[in-house]
Amino acid sequence: MHLQNDKDIIRKEFLKKRILFKKKFTFKNKLKLILNLNDLLKNINYESIAGYYPIGSEIDCLTILEKEVIKNKLTALPYVKKDNKIEFRKWKNPDTLIGGLNNIPVPKNKIILYPDIILTPLLSFDMTGVRLGFGSGIYDRSFPNFPVSKKIGLAFSGQLNKRKLPNGPFDYKLDAVITEKDIFVFK
Ligand code: ADP
Ligand code: MG
Repeated sequence: MHLQNDKDIIRKEFLKKRILFKKKFTFKNKLKLILNLNDLLKNINYESIAGYYPIGSEIDCLTILEKEVIKNKLTALPYVKKDNKIEFRKWKNPDTLIGGLNNIPVPKNKIILYPDIILTPLLSFDMTGVRLGFGSGIYDRSFPNFPVSKKIGLAFSGQLNKRKLPNGPFDYKLDAVITEKDIFVFK
């Protein structure tokens, strides 16, 4: 299918690029990204926030969940169920993690949250909020179960695709993306 081929070509490109972006990402860049996230969050009334356990060159979300602004909120990490949909389980460092799908660590406890904010990793995004993921569609499948949650991508600034990303009816748009340079708000 054209759509999947087009996406796969861009995925490959950004998978390579993201490794370089991560290598070049300085401590100062990370602080700036966190400041930008704080700027966005301070205008949102929320009690709970979900992150993700970072894999490969994804932005480290675990330390972000421990930052000052977020510290007093309920925090959670994804658990991918057999139907390839995410449920969010309450988790705060140093709560126990166990191996989940593809051995990605997931919270051991089974307390389910419907987070007000969902932070997501991504391979690329465009100026309209379209998100390109790893190709499993897991977030696309899950987001309809969280209609009121704000979906915020975390990205290195270079992950912005300057042209519109290919997308189909299942591709769920993000509300915002935070990088070390910008706060993009789409909705
Ligand atoms: P990603 O979002 O990770 O970049 P894709 O958007 O390419 O990945 O989605 C991967 C596959 O999952 C596609 O074949 C897509 O049609 C399918 N998919 C995504 N969301 C749903 C859904 N809600 N129901 C059924 N299939 C879905
Ligand atoms: Mg998609």
